[in-house]
Amino acid sequence: MLVLFSKNGGIFIIVFSELDTRLKPKQQWICDNCGEVIESIEDGCLEWYKGNDDSLVENFRIVHHDSTCMYDPQMLFKEGKQAISMLLESLVGDSGLVYLLGLGVTEIRNFTEYQEIIKRLHVDHYEEARLYWHLAEEDHFFEGANAAWPYLPETSLKIIHKYKEKGK
Ligand SMILES: [Zn+2]
Repeated sequence: MLVLFSKNGGIFIIVFSELDTRLKPKQQWICDNCGEVIESIEDGCLEWYKGNDDSLVENFRIVHHDSTCMYDPQMLFKEGKQAISMLLESLVGDSGLVYLLGLGVTEIRNFTEYQEIIKRLHVDHYEEARLYWHLAEEDHFFEGANAAWPYLPETSLKIIHKYKEKGK
């Protein structure tokens, strides 16, 4: 990405390239359980569970597709909850988005939590920008922004570029 802007009459060129980023967009994620990188799409899944009281779904997580990182279905079952998971492969691309949007708002306990998952799966660079989100907030980076601006891919690249050194 190429960004041009002028300051004091001069033209500055800043190049945010894919080389600045650590995660491949829509192919790699940070596991919500162990915090390590999910290296390829085949290694990840989205999971959530359903309580037996009102059967609303909740606690969505993107995790490694193995029993070490996934919810323990037997443990949840003992608590009256039903674990559900889907491979990330089936949740990306246009078909994946249509699937995610197919889950009714009335079935989801916390829609903000669900929107976050959709952004992580479908918006380039957002997953990586989340790593530095707290630094950007502390720095008032989002001040004056409208509701959409913080989540745009170009904003995420700016966040990564600006805060990744501090975030180490
Ligand atoms: Zn993991």
